[in-house]
Amino acid sequence: MMASGTSGNVEIPRTCKAGVVVNEGPDFKLVVDDVTVPEPGPNDALIKLNATGICYSDIHYMLNDLPIPKMSVFGVRSPGHEGAGVIVKLGSNVTNWKIGDRAGIKPAYDACFNCELCWSGKETYCDESPQIGLHFPGSYQQYVLSPARYTTRIPDGVDDFTAGPIMCSGSTIYCSLKESGLKPGDWAVFLGAGGGVGHMGVQLAKAMGMRVVGVDGGDDKRELCMKLGCEMFVDFTEVQDIAAEVVKTCDGKGAHGVFVTATSGSAYAAAPMMARISGKAMCIGLPPTGTAVAGADPLLIIGKNLSISGTKVGSLLDTQRALEFAARGLLKPIYETYPLAKMPDAVEKLRKGNVAGRLVVDFNS
Ligand SMILES: [Zn+2]
Ligand SMILES: [Zn+2]
Repeated sequence: MMASGTSGNVEIPRTCKAGVVVNEGPDFKLVVDDVTVPEPGPNDALIKLNATGICYSDIHYMLNDLPIPKMSVFGVRSPGHEGAGVIVKLGSNVTNWKIGDRAGIKPAYDACFNCELCWSGKETYCDESPQIGLHFPGSYQQYVLSPARYTTRIPDGVDDFTAGPIMCSGSTIYCSLKESGLKPGDWAVFLGAGGGVGHMGVQLAKAMGMRVVGVDGGDDKRELCMKLGCEMFVDFTEVQDIAAEVVKTCDGKGAHGVFVTATSGSAYAAAPMMARISGKAMCIGLPPTGTAVAGADPLLIIGKNLSISGTKVGSLLDTQRALEFAARGLLKPIYETYPLAKMPDAVEKLRKGNVAGRLVVDFNS
């Protein structure tokens, strides 16, 4: 548990530690280096992070395998978008935060708050919604800036190691569950159920009253998924026809919602086969460009009245809601902590895949 808020001046160093990418691209490396602590603009908060989660999107940005410009094009060396800590300095216009307040940053950095998307709770799709850790220095840097109006308050009872991963994965899968329209009693299947996003989806779906099936590979993931509330686990390393197995489990008819949190082409290909009539395939995991297609033969989509839809990261509201589930004890990210000096090892481990739950870096150890 982190200390709760105190007000007053906090001493701010001139430099801080940060995980920075070297040699962006397929052979990138992450190193821990000293960087300048940024100065907040009039509307910004400066946050001293205690924890940051390591998300596969960070790896994508460093590998540069998505159809977007490199981090360096924006002058950014530190990825990361799931940080939790305390406010240490505020811009002159900021009145609704105080020094010592607990705060978190999430994938979207800000939004315009003056367009249809922003007015309808879809501000993460706003034209003026840049990404932290891509367009702006991210949470691999201990002292980070965040526009005060887009900074998330961390509720009491949610420690920073729990809050970090919820800022991205937890709120992202909350958003997808909400948009799927699934109801209590419906079958929800998670492809990649034991991963960073999937294992939070399992918990949230269970808390929302859905019946949950996990699909993933290996005994670690099986154990985790069953512990978190899956009724059934399908191991893709053992079962040949995973879609048939899922359909059999879900009343012989298939799932109401299939949540693809995995990033493989085979997971995306299997999703429509697992859905029942009028089922939904929800796209969440980001495959490298050109390696996967979401969908199926139109005959299947027509014959099964399927919907395929994508959701990006959680909105301000989604993030708040996901944190509330955590405060109520219904969402507990499973994580392994790494000291700051071992951040490169954490990144390397996730890059190789096969992480059950989440890796979180502790800036204070
Ligand atoms: Zn993320
Ligand atoms: Zn907007």
